[in-house]
Order: sequence, then structure tokens, then C-alpha cells
Amino acid sequence: VNAVGHNHPALTKAITEQAAKLLHVSNLYWIEPQVKLAKLLVENSCSDKVFFANSGAEANEGAIKLARKYAKEHYGEDKFEIITMNKSFHGRTLATLAATGQSKFHQDFKPLPAGFKYVPFNDFKALEDAIGPHTCAVMMEPIQGEGGVYAAEPDYLTKVRRLCDDRNLLLIFDEVQSGIGRSGELFAYQLYGVEPDIMTLAKGLGGGVPIGAFLAKEQVAAALKPGDHGSTFGGNPLATAAATAVLETILADGFLAGVKEIAGYFATKLEELAAKYPVVKEVRGKGLLLGMELDVAAAGVVNGCREKGLLINGVAEKVLRFLPPLIITEADVDEAVAILAEELAKLSQ
Ligand code: PLP
Repeated sequence: VNAVGHNHPALTKAITEQAAKLLHVSNLYWIEPQVKLAKLLVENSCSDKVFFANSGAEANEGAIKLARKYAKEHYGEDKFEIITMNKSFHGRTLATLAATGQSKFHQDFKPLPAGFKYVPFNDFKALEDAIGPHTCAVMMEPIQGEGGVYAAEPDYLTKVRRLCDDRNLLLIFDEVQSGIGRSGELFAYQLYGVEPDIMTLAKGLGGGVPIGAFLAKEQVAAALKPGDHGSTFGGNPLATAAATAVLETILADGFLAGVKEIAGYFATKLEELAAKYPVVKEVRGKGLLLGMELDVAAAGVVNGCREKGLLINGVAEKVLRFLPPLIITEADVDEAVAILAEELAKLSQ
């Protein structure tokens, strides 16, 4: 979320200026910073239209609704099913929980909304075989975060895009975690050269101010008519002014090149730790969405690092996930790696 760190001057300025001017007005009216942000997003992505929400889950809810409405209009009443991936994470509302391909999140909340099917990630054949008469879309994170930091194979995404085109399915990328510069590109799909029909954003977009968005190609977006979807707070002046400042910062000359450079440095340092400490199984990920899989539970290392002032988290039990602000420096990485090394050394004694 804190893509540009804490107290970034551009973000602080945008928020204070906007707060002094206009905090909220209804979406019945044109909202200037909202228009500005939408323009920035479409000019810098493959999408043509944006809907603003308040969180990642809400953005995904909107994407699911749009896919269903589009499919219904174009291919008939019985097209509603969305195929998602095992180990995915799409949010904690009922529909996005249902879209999330991890049963541990489902257990206590059944019955969940119908119309979701799960397949293993990076398994093209499984996806192809899962398509049925009701399928309307395929939804995935190009780089899975919560599920353990797994990036899509380039060849897989290319084939999935072709499959979706051949079978009249929409391709939805959940870039809530992988978007807004995290991968080293503004959006992770740009790493792969594979364009989604619908894309969702949140987390880093507002740099800490709650905002989400779903974006779509014109022809797909056209399925949503006035009244089909809406949000009281979505795209409000404060949130969109903040997100505009974040996006302008990330789009400034040299920023993304800097992310790629520091990400390369961080990955190299993590690889060095992997070579030194046998407890490390693998280092993986893209850009500043990195994971280190251990042979043991990650919790001990996460806690040990926290005691020393380094905040990281553990996902999928044995994976340490690193999602630092995009503005970290080599000195920050060195400090983090030194702390991590102490914790890994303890496990390797
Ligand atoms: N999608 C992905 C890929 C996420 O990582 C998350 C949150 O971790 C979400 C959706 C849900 O976002 P939010 O917590 O803002 O609802």
C-alpha cells in the first residue's frame, strides 16, 4: 500500500490541498481529480474506462459483475461462471472469497455465491479442460501474492490470452497487489505483453488512502449502463487527488527504472542468502514482489525480524514475502538483508 513510503511530500501536499478545497461530493457530479486520475490510468494502460471503488475486494466485485453482464449481453443468460486459480486471493467479500481459490478462507462462510471454479495456476491444460458451457471469464493475478508469490509463466499467459479469444471468454487480471509499479512496470501485464480485458487495482494506488478501481476495454465496459453499478465514496475527491499524486510520482522519469534497479539488487541479495543458508528453498517473484520459501514455517523468522525492526510477512506457511515501498534504497535493502541473515543463521545452526 505504501508504494511511495510514508509522508511522501507529493502525496501529503495533494491530500492537504484537496482537504482544504473539497473532501467529498456525490458521484452525481463530475469530480475533477477523478477525471484526471481516470485519464492518467487509461493513457498509461491498455484500458479505456475506469470505475472507482474503495478497496481491492470491491474492485474485484465490480470486475465480476462486469464480466457477467458482458457475457449475458453477448453470449446469453447461461454464461456466468468464472474460472480462477488455486492459491489465488481476490478479497474477503462473499463473491471475492468465492473467487479466491483457497479453501481455508471459505470454510466458515459457506454457502458462498455460486459460479466459480478453480484450476492450478500455470497449468494450461487444466484451464482448457475446465471451460464449460457456462464459463464467461478467466480471472487471475499475473503474479500471485497472498498464495505464496508465484509469477505466471510468460508462455502460459500468452496461451491463456489466445484461449480466451478463441472461446469468447474475458480475461480479468487482478493487479491489486502486482500493479502500480510493484513489478517494475506500471502494471504486471506489461511485463508479459499480454493485455487483460478487465483489470483491477487498489493497494498502492492511493499510497495509503483507500481507493480501488476496475478498468476495462471500451467494448467490454459498455456493458455496464448507468444504474448497474455505483459507489458512494468510490472516486471521491480526496481519494482521487491522492491517487493522482501517487501515479504522477510513479510515472515521473526514472522512477520505474529505479524500481527495477533496486528490485534487481534486492533479489540478488536474497539469492546470496539462499546460497548461504540451506534453510532457504527458493527465491522467486518479480520486481518488488519477492518471496523466499523456507524449509520451515515462516512465522519464527517473521517474528524475529519484527523484534529487530524489520516488518515482513509470511504467506502460505513457509514463504517470506517482501513488498517494500517502491522508494527503498540500497542502504534499506542492506539493513533488511542483514537482519534477515541473522534470523536465517539461527535456523541453520
Ligand atoms: N486482490 C489481491 C491480489 C490482493 O492481494 C488483495 C489483498 O490482499 C485483494 C484483492 C483484496 O484487497 P482489499 O483488502 O483492498 O479488499
